[in-house]
Amino acid sequence: MFEYTEEQEAIRRTAREFARKEVAPGAAERDATRRYDTQLFKRMGELGFIGMLMPKDCGGTETDLISFCLVLEEIGRVDLSLAWSLFASLSFAQPVATLGSPEQKALWMDSIVQPVLRGEATTCMGITEPDAGSDNARIRTRAVRDGDEWVINGQKTFITGAGLDICRGVVAVCLTDPETRRFDHIFVPTGTPGYRIGPPMKKMGLHSSDTRELFFDDCRVPLISRIGAEGEGLIRTLRGFFTARILIASTCLGLAEECLDLATAYAKQRVAFGKPIARYQYVQGMLTDMAMNIELGRLIRDKAAHLYMTDKPFFREAAMCKWFITEMAKQATDSAVQIFGGTGFMDECPVSRYYRDIRASTIGEGTTQIQRYVVAREMGLFV
Ligand SMILES: Cc1cc2nc3c(=O)[nH]c(=O)nc-3n(C[C@H](O)[C@H](O)[C@H](O)COP(=O)(O)OP(=O)(O)OC[C@H]3O[C@@H](n4cnc5c(N)ncnc54)[C@H](O)[C@@H]3O)c2cc1C
Repeated sequence: MFEYTEEQEAIRRTAREFARKEVAPGAAERDATRRYDTQLFKRMGELGFIGMLMPKDCGGTETDLISFCLVLEEIGRVDLSLAWSLFASLSFAQPVATLGSPEQKALWMDSIVQPVLRGEATTCMGITEPDAGSDNARIRTRAVRDGDEWVINGQKTFITGAGLDICRGVVAVCLTDPETRRFDHIFVPTGTPGYRIGPPMKKMGLHSSDTRELFFDDCRVPLISRIGAEGEGLIRTLRGFFTARILIASTCLGLAEECLDLATAYAKQRVAFGKPIARYQYVQGMLTDMAMNIELGRLIRDKAAHLYMTDKPFFREAAMCKWFITEMAKQATDSAVQIFGGTGFMDECPVSRYYRDIRASTIGEGTTQIQRYVVAREMGLFV
């Protein structure tokens, strides 16, 4: 529990080398020019990172969740946008591999799933709508059967990766039965008539990730485009959130560690009033708090991942892990900027980018308030 295996450490070293040598050098430039680098995504495919959680018979390696978390940590340390795109890329490949019918696998395995695993293509997940964020059950994007097609009308917002030129399509969560409030996952390929992708949304951070609004206007796709058992789309979405919460938390744990390393090194060499600022108790307090909270975050993350890997209930721990780590990492970036002083506020200092980027983490994949609600529910407090 307190040590990773040799194999896990080896995977972490590979990810660290990739992050340091290939991801970190261009991260500031990508942020400044608001550019997602598809070549880096391809490299993540070549290194086998994208297929780590995928079944072997679909081209994956079925590596354990902790190993994948370690990869996300290392990439998250230097580029949160890229780290998030790594797990978001599985939005289509994973359900097709695990739930797809033989016909769906024949249709998509070679044309989309394999290219995704190689890092040559990606897909996105369309859940959120202007009037349905935390409250997913209010999703109004409607899919109606018409002969052998689904006809989709509605709008999605804040969708990551939809506008990338390698994005093959969106898995849209659609209301398919308003009476019983049933929802389904329907895949809409990029370029389908009636499916329009809005311009890039302007954001506070995560500049090198692509975020869009999506519009469906009498958009028609064949019936085969529905993934998974009929009417179970929302339930699957909610279950999927719990694993995603461990993954997003891992990226933020990495970022917090990077902030601690950078701020510690700076505090030891920056002199004020004749001494390195690391000698001052108020500065030490910020660094020791960061160190302790990172340790605590790692414990809860590993516990949540362990429960998942051993098929035990893990929703409570996954929610705690997402809540604690994202809030802790937000504080860590704040403390790092503080320790760097004016330098930390300047664009050329990486912690200034980390401070902006981390802000989305307590919102996406379920806000902090929703995690607290889940923990309260799992504690049986809604008597
Ligand atoms: C950078 C970024 C990328 C994203 N990428 C995607 C994506 O790829 N696909 C996708 O589908 N979505 C994506 N999202 C959307 C994200 O999942 C939603 O923003 C999130 O679920 C919150 O929904 P909302 O923004 O509508 O906020 P709301 O749900 O309107 O919440 C507003 C506030 O009310 C609080 N609140 C709501 N309900 C409760 C409650 N019951 N109890 C207490 N407080 C409550 C929230 O915590 C929050 O503070 C992305 C968001 C961001 C910022």
